[in-house]
Amino acid sequence: MDKFSKMRKTTQFASLAISSIIFIIALYGIATHNDLYFEIGLLLIGFIIVGGIMLSPILGRFWCGWMCPRGTFLEYALPKVSKKKKIPHILRSKPFKLFMASIMAAMFVMVLLDMNPLLTSQDELASMGGFIVFMCVATTILISIPLGIIYMPRAWCGFCPVGYAQSLLSRNKILNISIEDCRNCTKCHASCHLDLCREYTGKSKTIESADCMSCMKCSDSCKIGASKPVITLKTV
Ligand code: SF4
Ligand code: SF4
Ligand code: SF4
Repeated sequence: MDKFSKMRKTTQFASLAISSIIFIIALYGIATHNDLYFEIGLLLIGFIIVGGIMLSPILGRFWCGWMCPRGTFLEYALPKVSKKKKIPHILRSKPFKLFMASIMAAMFVMVLLDMNPLLTSQDELASMGGFIVFMCVATTILISIPLGIIYMPRAWCGFCPVGYAQSLLSRNKILNISIEDCRNCTKCHASCHLDLCREYTGKSKTIESADCMSCMKCSDSCKIGASKPVITLKTV
């Protein structure tokens, strides 16, 4: 494992640990009907999500590749049980991403209008907290894990609304993945969480997809450039 991969893994697990503590605070708030704990958990969870989205205009989906706790969980917990099949095109299509984002947005609006059946508190902030915690747990258990077993471990990241929001904001990001002297041997293709390498190696000088998480797994798996890496992280 090179320095870059170690750095990424350390960042991922540090973020996972911090997020887990926050999550436990929120769950404690729910269990004890204590809105204060609930709100603290919510504010921190909100900070993490908004923080990730705010990074994207500059760093693209760096949050997804380096910090998101759910992404980290899926990446390290599922490979042994995952069938690692290619993600169906429809799950990564724009209409499907929009559909998922619309469902999420509709749920948020319902909370704001006091119409959400998942309301757990009279306090609006605490209700929103309950909704976010519920959605995180429900989508992970009901969608992300089953999909990660049937397809690639991080299949959910192909259409996750938070990831999609980052992709949309990433069009002019300054962090990019450059490809030089690629021999198109295809060895890196299986390493990409979203099967993006296949679309660009041998054809392009950069990974042009806004979905790229800058995780550099493709670079790690390319053995061709032992003296000079074929795939590198560059700022524009
Ligand atoms: S796509 Fe969603 S779940 Fe996946 S890493 Fe990004 S924010 Fe996390
Ligand atoms: S980047 Fe490296 S591993 Fe991937 S196709 Fe090109 S030469 Fe092969
Ligand atoms: S193209 Fe490379 S850097 Fe981008 S997500 Fe795939 S493996 Fe990670």
